Amino acid sequence: MSSSTVLIVGQGLAGTLVARACERRGREFMIVDAGHAGAASRVGAGIINPITGRRLVKTAGVEADLPVALAAYRDWEAVLGRPVLTELAVRRRWVSAEEREAARERLRKGLLAPYVDPAAFTDEGVVIAPAWRVDTAGLIAGARERWLAAGRLREGVVARAEVAGWSGPVVWCDGAGGRAHGLPLTVAAGALATVRAPELPRDEIWNRGGRWLMPSAADGDEALVGAVYSHDEYIDTAAARAELAAMAAELTGLGEAAPEPIEVRMGLRMMGADRRPLSGWFPGREGREGCLNGLGSKGALWAPRLAEEWTERL
Ligand SMILES: Cc1cc2nc3c(=O)[nH]c(=O)nc-3n(C[C@H](O)[C@H](O)[C@H](O)COP(=O)(O)OP(=O)(O)OC[C@H]3O[C@@H](n4cnc5c(N)ncnc54)[C@H](O)[C@@H]3O)c2cc1C
Repeated sequence: MSSSTVLIVGQGLAGTLVARACERRGREFMIVDAGHAGAASRVGAGIINPITGRRLVKTAGVEADLPVALAAYRDWEAVLGRPVLTELAVRRRWVSAEEREAARERLRKGLLAPYVDPAAFTDEGVVIAPAWRVDTAGLIAGARERWLAAGRLREGVVARAEVAGWSGPVVWCDGAGGRAHGLPLTVAAGALATVRAPELPRDEIWNRGGRWLMPSAADGDEALVGAVYSHDEYIDTAAARAELAAMAAELTGLGEAAPEPIEVRMGLRMMGADRRPLSGWFPGREGREGCLNGLGSKGALWAPRLAEEWTERL
């Protein structure tokens, strides 16, 4: 290990992508992770949907972020030899006539192009395409195995004081752990569930009123439904399960006939101030220590470009 080896703390999606960007550029790195407990990347749905929100807004910067994100996940597919990225279409149903008419106005102004084909805009809903699902859990598990075998990943918890003696730059990609650095981060505990949804086409996400139902794999009849959030570190499992069951019943249209959730998963999602990610050197520690965090609900889209920017900084 050289005196300029980059130390990456945390191997969720952010740390994995920073490490891979270093690897591709031949920059030496070491990564340490506490074991993915509570990692958002182990739980999150990994949806990249270019048009979201109650008002159907195109995600700011999507044109610049998307090609970088798709290239990064394709690169991982080549490294791991299995799929990471799945292209899907979002079939969104209106919750009200107001929502529909506001969206129609945005469509008329060209604000939803190229993701909404006017022919796919109806009185019932709209189709947003393409969208993607990134298998973030599979990606971080595969990367972990690879770097453990290569001696580049160590399991353990790193304390801030411990890195003082590290001679190279340190990048904290520690998700919920980032609160220890006094960063302006807000935490939300999020839950989603696996359910049976045989009627859901394997290439669609069904979406209504901020809730979604998505195939969990290319085959089979299992789907993920979500998500429920508590703006707290704690989420009541029984209440989350009941809420997710109700979402599945509504989205599948099965009502009371809908089967119970098979499994409920929970993780901590970190959001930066103004819903923007935190990426850069810590003040006063330029060139020595910084972070990539606060990726909120757009980690799958944002992390690849921010990881590339990190390797340019290093
Ligand atoms: C229910 C839910 C649904 C979501 N759905 C989506 C979605 O559809 N689309 C989307 O883009 N995003 C979604 N997200 C958000 C997305 O998952 C996150 O933006 C992203 O995974 C964050 O990655 P990260 O690497 O910053 O953090 P994490 O994945 O939390 O990783 C942090 C890592 O740091 C390690 N760590 C922490 N402290 C230390 C320490 N001191 N020493 C060593 N290791 C440490 C942890 O073990 C962990 O592995 C969702 C999140 C949740 C919870």
